[in-house]
Amino acid sequence: MSDPALPALLGGVPVRPSGPPVWPFPDAEVQAALAAAVASGAWGQYHGEHVCALESELATFHGVPHATTCASGTLAVEAALRALRVGPGDEVVMAAYDYESNFLTVHSLGAKPVLVDVHHETGQLDPARLEAAFGPQTKAVICSHLHGGLVPVSDVVEIAHRHNVGVVEDAAQALGAVVGGRLAGTTGDVGVLSFGGSKLLTAGRGGALLFHDPQLFQRAKLWLHRGLQQWAPLSELQAAALRPQLAKLPAMNARRAENVKELVAALPVEPRGLTPWVAQDHGGKPRGSKDEQHDSPAFYKLGFHYDAAAVGISREVFVKALRAEGIAVDAGFKALHVGRSPSRFRASGDLTNATAAHDGCVVLHHPVLALSPAEVRQVAEAVAKVYRYRDSLADRPSQTRG
Ligand SMILES: *Cc1c(COP(=O)(O)O)cnc(C)c1O
Repeated sequence: MSDPALPALLGGVPVRPSGPPVWPFPDAEVQAALAAAVASGAWGQYHGEHVCALESELATFHGVPHATTCASGTLAVEAALRALRVGPGDEVVMAAYDYESNFLTVHSLGAKPVLVDVHHETGQLDPARLEAAFGPQTKAVICSHLHGGLVPVSDVVEIAHRHNVGVVEDAAQALGAVVGGRLAGTTGDVGVLSFGGSKLLTAGRGGALLFHDPQLFQRAKLWLHRGLQQWAPLSELQAAALRPQLAKLPAMNARRAENVKELVAALPVEPRGLTPWVAQDHGGKPRGSKDEQHDSPAFYKLGFHYDAAAVGISREVFVKALRAEGIAVDAGFKALHVGRSPSRFRASGDLTNATAAHDGCVVLHHPVLALSPAEVRQVAEAVAKVYRYRDSLADRPSQTRG
């Protein structure tokens, strides 16, 4: 019999034997909305009430005049870039640590991604790197708020607009976050939201765009339509499922943010293996945030720098050990410049911090953050357990990234 106190990876009992919570949570209001959409026949319609109502609710929630929905966040990024008239031969500046689809979308338009480094503490696009990255072909910047962090997007916009460059603010991971006193997705020229299966608001699939400028809105809508119909729309059922979730988003975000504070405070101090991308010493605000009074994060993921040398086990084994405890963590994104032909992008300056994020980022998925504080503390317990047995875990062979 092995010792139940051992890490689950070594035969012990997991901290969360039931595993990570399954997302989305059961929601009586979503269920009722779907049943009502079936009963009214809205579920079978092209132009029912729900898509239209959701678009208007998204605009009101975000305080922008125009919002439109579509089939995915990835498509929304493409529509945003097309609205900014990005095309063949143009350049689009983005962080070297970003969602891979954004990079691929730039290519799909015949444009070239220009990669800049991220901030060493926050892991986010660093506005200080932008000016040097701009060239005569630069048409747009993609600015993604990632893993609970926030890009100081008003700085991005200020610099970009001075150079006549448009800003796509990708808020797919930051729905309902506030940055610089404004909701994420409303400072850039075009804001992008995602309703994918793992996202904070979900319909399994789906996306949306936010605009101030009516011309950009019209251009995106025109591209998303072919004649009367949108060719990759959100459905009535998806919209019906999303509406009650939107109403609850601020309360859910507040709960997740409280739990992040709880969790970070409960993490073992020694060894210092996990440093969150958001600083807790000033209340969960992004590190380096200039506008701490007005910022409030949204946690789709909680990003950490993982220090393998301090813990003595590789990131791969650390992630595997925590997953065995029933904690949903993963290695972060692969950086866009790593393992890719240099002909596919232009690197502006050195990308040291993005490489460090590639090697060392660990993300915790959000569902556990909406549970009780006691359950959130289980994440810290699992980390402490893995640290306690790090010598035994260190002997396990490391595996390459899956
Ligand atoms: C999820 C996500 C998107 C869009 O994803 P879809 O699955 O296509 O809706 C875009 N950007 C980021 C940063 C994301 O996390």
